[in-house]
Amino acid sequence: MAGFFSRAMATVERDEAPANAPLVPIDATDAVRRVELLDSFENAGLGWFWATDAQGRLIYLSPNAAEKLGWEHEGTLGRPLTDLFIPDEDGDPDRAERPLAFLLSARNSISQLHVRLATEKQVVWWEIAGKPQFDSRQRFTGYRGSAKDITASRETQLDAERLAQYDSLTGLANRHRMTKRLSATLKAYRNSKRSCALLMLDLDRFKQVNDTLGHPAGDELLKQVAARLERIVGSKGEIGRLGGDEFQVMLPDMDDRGILGDLGQRVIQMISQPYSVNGSRAIIGTSVGIAIAPYDGLDTEELVKAADLALYAAKGGGRGQYRFYSSDLKDGAKHRRQVEEDLRDAIDKGELAMHYQPIVCAKTHEVKCMEALMRWEHPERGNISPGVFIPVAEEMGFIKRLGDWALLEVCRQAVDWPVDLRVAVNVSAVQFAHDDFAQFVERALNQSGLAPDRLELEITESVFLGDTGRAQTMFKDLKSLGVRLALDDFGTGYSSLSYLSQAPFDKIKIDQSFVRGATEKGNNNAAIMSAIVSLAEALDMETVTEGVETKDELRLVTERGTSHIQGFIFSRAMGNDDVIDRLEKGELKFTARGPAKYRADRKTVFRRIGLIHEDFRYRVVMRNLSKTGAAIEGLLDVPVGTQIVLDLGGGQLAVAVVRRSNSYSQGVEFETALISNGADGLCTRHRVSPYDIEAAGRPLSSLPQDPYALMAGGQTGAAGRRKFVEVDINNPR
Ligand code: C2E
Ligand code: MG
Ligand code: MG
Repeated sequence: MAGFFSRAMATVERDEAPANAPLVPIDATDAVRRVELLDSFENAGLGWFWATDAQGRLIYLSPNAAEKLGWEHEGTLGRPLTDLFIPDEDGDPDRAERPLAFLLSARNSISQLHVRLATEKQVVWWEIAGKPQFDSRQRFTGYRGSAKDITASRETQLDAERLAQYDSLTGLANRHRMTKRLSATLKAYRNSKRSCALLMLDLDRFKQVNDTLGHPAGDELLKQVAARLERIVGSKGEIGRLGGDEFQVMLPDMDDRGILGDLGQRVIQMISQPYSVNGSRAIIGTSVGIAIAPYDGLDTEELVKAADLALYAAKGGGRGQYRFYSSDLKDGAKHRRQVEEDLRDAIDKGELAMHYQPIVCAKTHEVKCMEALMRWEHPERGNISPGVFIPVAEEMGFIKRLGDWALLEVCRQAVDWPVDLRVAVNVSAVQFAHDDFAQFVERALNQSGLAPDRLELEITESVFLGDTGRAQTMFKDLKSLGVRLALDDFGTGYSSLSYLSQAPFDKIKIDQSFVRGATEKGNNNAAIMSAIVSLAEALDMETVTEGVETKDELRLVTERGTSHIQGFIFSRAMGNDDVIDRLEKGELKFTARGPAKYRADRKTVFRRIGLIHEDFRYRVVMRNLSKTGAAIEGLLDVPVGTQIVLDLGGGQLAVAVVRRSNSYSQGVEFETALISNGADGLCTRHRVSPYDIEAAGRPLSSLPQDPYALMAGGQTGAAGRRKFVEVDINNPR
């Protein structure tokens, strides 16, 4: 109030004081001149006054205030003060103020209270202040107060707030708002034990659009992406753009991974549809990472980190994929560091070995070549797949040592085989790019005494990505040594038939991804296979079809004319002793053994899991897994019809019934089908809730690796309830 008056005073003095006039202060007792002063203050519209009686009825309101609002001055008097204002429905809950009615009835002072006037046509906001009045006997007599119009400044402030919270390009929430909303939601949901899912999106190939079509086109594209996201998500959640081509979707009360997976898939499909931006056509994709509170994280930081890790995995899995967070993703980085460290000593510690998989003639099924495949038996982790450690070795610059070791080891072993079979060694593109690679091959041949034409080097198309002139020289040097060259994994990478004419290959290996699904109707892999085979024949090259597992695949690839076949149907890779043993016996022919058909839905696995029966938890081995069931081993004679629960780890419990039982192996059927985890794995729709673990007396936290054990406490081992005999299954087939 003081502010109003002092400003009014300043105005009055400036307007009314002529130059050189003597100073005539307004005396505090000069009522007439003081009223005049207040009058001019009111008339200038700088502020207004109001007063109520003890009943809260308006007994005064600056006349021109009422006039400005289109109210009749007389009619306004006598109305309760609270009638002049309407409650603010879309007010910011963060700035919630005590309502006026509350302040009045409590006879509190009112200061800087923002109220919306009950006007019909326009939106008007006032800031009001007031003080309760008491008479000499301390009886309440009403309020005296002031008001000023703040509509304009409020608008500006709201605009500024909007700017600070929303992305100006797409109109979506910005990072700041998303973080604030997520934090508030997670905090509130913790008490009410509710869940909240978070999707992180990162566009694939967006940079290309920006670079080729320009930034304005990039901006336009982002707007269209935002619009598509809004169409999919609708009112189910809040969407934000975190910056660049990163988006986030928050979905309150959502923990069904079936629904989330479908949503992730739909988002990917919708975003991947072509766009028309400023007259050009653009195609981008997106990867999606999904994490769910409280399972994967309790607070914003934890949940965002989990969703980020899932996104990272989705991108690493080949883009255009969604991926759920699981705790092994967290271990991923740690695991990788461990692999790096241990790999350095693996050779010296004798943990590496070369195994050999036969490549047979398609007509006779007689072995013609052995492919050397590296095996790493880690003392703690067991077998680590070359699919995992070879890329690590490439990145850490260790592949040369590893590759050199392999080459020498293979030459030394093969030279002692009782039959002069060919042997194929995989060569990494990194190894191939070393200038002295050909010299090393020559040294290995000389040191071992292996005939050059028995050695075949398998390289992949990626060798063509570097300096092609250098690659050509390397091919020439190798050929002059007399070794053979094979093009591995043909059809997976950058696949260009022109590579075939660029290098003197003796063999093309058709990748196993062509075989998979080739027997299904409408799949054109078989036609492509025929084309590759005829081309290879024309160029006088052999063909090997990799990854043949089933009888129908064998029939198909034989029909399509491949000259050689490699696959589990004949044999997996075997140790050098087994190779020698077999060759000594003269067993050169391999028999096709395998299932009649490939079942895409059934995955061969070897995983130790928990099996819960009548509150007792056993350890079993899972051999294969499909959406509807699993094959398990490790318990003797479990009767058909037994109800069990499989603990698949990470809080995933699947209720199942034993359908087949044969000594120590059982086939079980799940009560609720599993769903895809976004990659090539399966997961349960729901998980053990961290709230349930909390209810069992543990502190609330995101899901640990083995939540069931935590929940059950120490009771799982009680021998009394053990019903079945456990047998040890430790040899992966
Ligand atoms: P690759 O050279 O394409 O080797 C064939 C892979 O397919 C092997 O996997 C083999 O076990 C697998 N395979 C063969 N038949 C079947 C089948 O019927 N079904 C299925 N599902 N798989 C089949 P492995 O041994 O895990 O090796 C993976 C990759 O690691 C190899 O792919 C190769 O790129 C790399 N690698 C293995 N050993 C070496 C090595 O000594 N040096 C280098 N640089 N890379 C290696
Ligand atoms: Mg190979
Ligand atoms: Mg291959």
